[in-house]
Parts: sequence; C-alpha cells; structure tokens
Amino acid sequence: MRFSEIFSRRARPVISFEVFPPKTDSSMESFRAVLPRLVALAPDFMTVTYGALGSTQSRTLEIAALIKRQYRLETACHLTCVGSDREAIGRTLDAIAAAGIENIVALRGDPPQGQKDYVPPPGGYRHAIELVEHIRRRGGFGIAVAGYPEKHIEAESFESDLGHLARKVQAGGDVVVTQLFYDNAHYFRFAQMARGRAVRVPIVPGLLPIVSLQQVKRLTSMCGASIPTSLLAALEEAGPDEEATLDAGVRHAAEQARGLLEGGAPGIHFYVLNRFHHMERILSEIRPLLVSIEKGGRGGAR
Ligand code: FAD
Repeated sequence: MRFSEIFSRRARPVISFEVFPPKTDSSMESFRAVLPRLVALAPDFMTVTYGALGSTQSRTLEIAALIKRQYRLETACHLTCVGSDREAIGRTLDAIAAAGIENIVALRGDPPQGQKDYVPPPGGYRHAIELVEHIRRRGGFGIAVAGYPEKHIEAESFESDLGHLARKVQAGGDVVVTQLFYDNAHYFRFAQMARGRAVRVPIVPGLLPIVSLQQVKRLTSMCGASIPTSLLAALEEAGPDEEATLDAGVRHAAEQARGLLEGGAPGIHFYVLNRFHHMERILSEIRPLLVSIEKGGRGGAR
C-alpha cells in the first residue's frame, strides 16, 4: 500500500518507525531480536534508512524486504542521491520494486564523512527534487520527502527552504516527514507556513526520543535542531544515570507526541534507533489518545 493510501484510509493518526541497517553481522543478530518487539507495537509502517556509502546500502533493501515478507508490515526504503548516477538509481528502484516495496523516502543525503559540502556524483543529482522527479517518471512508488521545522542546516533562510520543499512536493512528494525537533512550536509554525505555500499533503512530525544526552547533542548539532533549556536541564540533572535519562526522554517524547496529535498532526514518525524498550513506554502512554481520536474522528488534521 502506498503512502497516499495509508494516510487517507486511517481514521486515526498514522504511526511509523524508522530503523537503520546494522553494520555488522552481530548487530544484525540483535536487530533480528528487536524487530518482533517493534512490530508488536503495531506501527502502520516502518522505514529503513540508507547509509552514506558502502555495504549498509544493500542492507536497506534486505531489511525492508525482511520486514515486509516476515511480518507483512508495509515498509519504505530510504534512498539518497549520494554516490549514485541515474542508471544506478534506476537499478536500485527496480530492485526495490522487485521486492514488493511500494514506498520510497527520497532524499539528497548528507555529504559523506570528511566532506564539507555535498557534491553531486557524476551523472547523478544535486537536489532531492531531481530524485523525486526520477521516481515519479518511473512510477510505481509512493514518495515521502524531508522537511525541516528549524530550517535545513545549509539553507539560506527558512523561507527559501520552504520554497524548495513546496517544489519537491509539487514534483511528486505524497507526504512530508520532518527532521527531529524538541519544541512543538517549531512544527506548528512550519506546518502553517508550508500550508501557506500550498503544501497540501500530510506533514508528519519526526520525533527522536532521547536515550542519551551525548547522543542528542551530537545529532542536534549535526542537523541544526535545538534542545529547549528545560529539557536540557532535566537531562543534565539526570547526569550519568542512564535510567533517569531514559525516564526524562520518554516523558518528553510522550508529551511532545500528545501535544502534536491533539494539535492535529496526521501521525508521528518515530526515529526508534533500533531500540524498543523506550518505544513500548511511549506507545503505552499515547495509545489511549490514539484510540480516542479514532473514536471521535480527527478534525483539524494537518
Ligand atoms: P534537499 O531537498 O535537496 O535540500 C537540501 C538543501 O538544498 C536545503 O538546504 C534546501 O533548501 C536546498 N535546496 C533544495 N532544492 C534546491 C534547489 N532546487 N536549488 C537550491 N537549493 C535547493 N540521510 C541519509 O543519508 N540517509 C537517510 O536514510 C536519511 N533519512 C532521512 C529521513 C528524514 C525524515 C530526514 C528529515 C532526513 C533524512 N536524511 C537521511 C538526512 C538528509 O539526507 C539530509 O538532511 C540532507 O542534508 C538533505 O536532504 P533533503 O532530501 O532534504 O535535500
């Protein structure tokens, strides 16, 4: 089932999980053990990220196909423009289609490690919009594109970034999934301004529940997202106590998800980072709200 159908058929918000392909055989083993626990939380679909270069790229399809085949759960492969020319992208799309996968998260990708700026590969693409156009021309896939509630780190301005997003959607994006953020005000402002630019497709907030202060500092500095001072204080107070950090992360993620859903978000895309304990707690906190939205109808969805 393609993204547009998934979002139009659901009476309640759509919950999705994003996982990444393990790098080694032993981490693949632990991932296989985590998967059924994630699937048991009944997400509507899962997406599998695409590595910068190297062997994890082929693992994206392997894992997406495994989830679809073994658990009969809808999946999407992330695909980037990094390191591939048009022919290689064409072959990857054919392989994804042959595995029965109907959805792609289409991205430009970040510059590979050690490179400051993104350089399009010879015969390849400079911006995600060109990949979206390629996929649309080929046909056969639902397409998600990335949006940035706090602006993409390279963008000249919030407005220019929104303009590029609107064109990416016009080119064929069925849904926008956002970069992580920790203050819902960023999402609501972004969604409202995107609507002002005639972006009519669902704009799904992406949440990364915090499991470690160091990790969240590293990830937010890479993507330019901010951490509210109150959340930072709670995490610093937890110090090296992993349980206390996890508690603060779960509390914040559940509160954020509730606020987003009550405010009309069409779903939540959780960056689960291949873990399930924290997701079990977050889902059990928001499940009653999901049920009540399903019973009462949505109204005001973004
Ligand atoms: P683009 O839409 O091309 O935008 C990149 C920059 O170029 C922006 O600053 C934009 O404003 C500007 N721009 C866009 N179009 C134009 C134009 N026509 N002219 C001038 N400027 C333009 N990375 C991975 O490597 N693998 C993944 O699996 C992955 N998954 C992700 C999933 C989500 C939901 C998100 C939000 C991000 C993900 N990323 C992933 C990170 C993503 O690749 C980076 O954020 C990347 O730097 C930008 O990708 P994009 O698709 O937004 O690029």
